[in-house]
Amino acid sequence: MPSATSLDVTAIRKDFPILAQQVHGEPLIYLDNAATSQKPKCVIEALTRFYQMDNANIHRGVHQLSERSTQSYEAARGKVQRFLNAANSREIIFVRGATEGINLVAQTYGRTHVSAGDEIVISAMEHHSNIVPWQMLCEEKGAVLRVIPINDRGELEFDQFEKLLNHRTRLVAVSHVSNALGTINPVREIVNTAHSWNVPVLIDGAQAVPHMKVDVRNLDCDFYVFSSHKVFGPTGIGVLYGREQLLEDMPPYQGGGDMISSVTFEKTTYNDLPYKFEAGTPNIAGVIGLGAAIDYLDQIGMDAVAAHEHDLLEYGTRALESISGLRLIGTAREKAGVLSFVIDGVHPHDAGTILDREGVAVRAGHHCAQPVMDRFGVSATTRASLAFYNTREDIDALVAGIQKVKEVFTV
Ligand code: PLP
Repeated sequence: MPSATSLDVTAIRKDFPILAQQVHGEPLIYLDNAATSQKPKCVIEALTRFYQMDNANIHRGVHQLSERSTQSYEAARGKVQRFLNAANSREIIFVRGATEGINLVAQTYGRTHVSAGDEIVISAMEHHSNIVPWQMLCEEKGAVLRVIPINDRGELEFDQFEKLLNHRTRLVAVSHVSNALGTINPVREIVNTAHSWNVPVLIDGAQAVPHMKVDVRNLDCDFYVFSSHKVFGPTGIGVLYGREQLLEDMPPYQGGGDMISSVTFEKTTYNDLPYKFEAGTPNIAGVIGLGAAIDYLDQIGMDAVAAHEHDLLEYGTRALESISGLRLIGTAREKAGVLSFVIDGVHPHDAGTILDREGVAVRAGHHCAQPVMDRFGVSATTRASLAFYNTREDIDALVAGIQKVKEVFTV
């Protein structure tokens, strides 16, 4: 049955050459988008064009190619700024990905503002990327990590969050959307509440940006991170948005070329934002590819993306709920993009392997969120995760594949 929404998915799928292949003799059904998403032709072409025509180092060259590559690199920064509705392109820092963005904040803002006995608040549904950097900081400083619990649906317990905040809280770091559960967190309310204690908030948007419109000024958050490769751009590049005043006051993350304005052996002065945080030759092609991905998403429209995926999620939830012996992990009322499940008597890895033989690519494991697995009393789940190029037929293929899994295990 076709989707009830207006997105022309048949046309869209033609933009993604990788989707038109067969695996194990079956049409590829790609449902591992939370791990990484596929790239439209315009992104692949932007990378090729850069290396064929413009490749040169940025910011330092006086020649044509360097001017062109600098211009494209900085134009992409402007695209990201508009995409996130940031006030200024100085607030957009290019990093390797969401992971590096969080580490940057932990190592710069965190190390200057967190002391022994201080507290950092995260949630029980964080990706390891939004746990370990804070744990490392807490260990170094003798600070304490506080964790907002989640309920059986996989929703944050907001009243518990409110109780965790106090005069020792130095930062709140939470995901916008959980990669393991799909829960959409009430980040606007989280920011409001934290700000009433004068506590800044970092939002891990790795799983939100591919699925919905994100407006950092509307969220009023202090830091926001995401990865290009999950948002239909290349790997190895990502974004840290930071409120300008906070970034100004933070020390640099790494030292090297481009992040300085002058160097002597006695003293180095640092470059202005955003370059202060971009030491060394960056991933120029990656940034340009990300810019192309944003152009593509702008054309489709994030509201249309969200509406289409909402339809798929509802369709998929209904279908999976009707399978006996299958338990959905993560049933939050506000959800995006993720169908995580376990089947009685079947190890999630076995389910993933059998689904692969049917052409259905899903992920099986702890999804870099081991505390979430512990919370639900499972060691792993099988996870199907959506993008706007998925269809109801993809969900039907997943359901048929799960029936195959059940036949093999006669459950
Ligand atoms: N945060 C969340 C919620 C994620 O899902 C992921 C990746 O799966 C990350 C952070 C880390 O992203 P990356 O590995 O691209 O840095």
